[in-house]
Amino acid sequence: MSERKAALVTGSTSGIGLAVATAFAKAGMDVTLNGLGDAGEIESIRSVLEREAGVTVRYDGANLMQAEACTGMVESAIGAFGRLDVLVNNAGIQFVSPIEDFPVEKWNAIIALNLSASFHTIRAAMRGMKERRYGRIINIASAHAHVASPFKSAYVAAKHGVLGLTKTVALEGAMFNVRCNAISPGYVFTTLVEGQIPDTMKARGLTRDQVINDVLLAAQPTKEFVKVEQIAGVALFLTSPAADEINGAALNVDGGWTAA
Ligand code: NAD
Repeated sequence: MSERKAALVTGSTSGIGLAVATAFAKAGMDVTLNGLGDAGEIESIRSVLEREAGVTVRYDGANLMQAEACTGMVESAIGAFGRLDVLVNNAGIQFVSPIEDFPVEKWNAIIALNLSASFHTIRAAMRGMKERRYGRIINIASAHAHVASPFKSAYVAAKHGVLGLTKTVALEGAMFNVRCNAISPGYVFTTLVEGQIPDTMKARGLTRDQVINDVLLAAQPTKEFVKVEQIAGVALFLTSPAADEINGAALNVDGGWTAA
């Protein structure tokens, strides 16, 4: 393809999503950012990225808890760039609690954002991708799409669901040059991880250092947090011709966590 690719990365105002959007823009893709946060800070991220990468970077503040918002965001992105080549479903939240105390509204919110939003965006993007005979869909899953940890019932259930969705979409797109893959990070030090430290301290009666070393990195044999740039690099690879025959896969970037 000689024309610039158009990408949409959900939850790209911070963390992994921002790193993926940055890598895509710097590789010459036009990008739609999405996510929550301070309007001024987001505009600053958008304008700096646009200037530094020399591509068009737009922002859509859709709250992806709602189906219509997911659909509207995809339609606007297609309207702005004429098509959608690359869709990254990354927006996600976490909540940590023993299941008997797990708030029902937290379960509903995690399933809505971490699983259902991906269904809604893919549903809205798929027809155009099939018609154009090109699409690369990347779902940011987790090591928790493959294995469980206690106190994360909603997150683990949602991420296992993301893998099922990924494989199904991969089969549906296979004959249309639409690829769908997942990336399964281990622990990446972002606000999402930072935010669950106090809850894990409370749920397990541990100190902050104990949570980091004995809970979070206990599962990661390298004893290192994954860097957001490393996830971005894998995402960029999945949009490259070298990855054209990778379909329905989950690429684990977890320092060996799920090898154990
Ligand atoms: P983060 O908190 O830094 O970023 C989450 C993004 O999602 C932000 O841009 C936020 O604004 C956005 N978001 C939150 N609620 C939203 C909503 N209702 N609508 C739209 N956007 C919303 O988190 P992160 O660590 O970068 O996580 C990104 C993804 O990676 C998530 O799906 C997460 O489950 C996954 N993941 C993270 C880790 C990790 O260790 N950080 C590990 C495995 C998987």
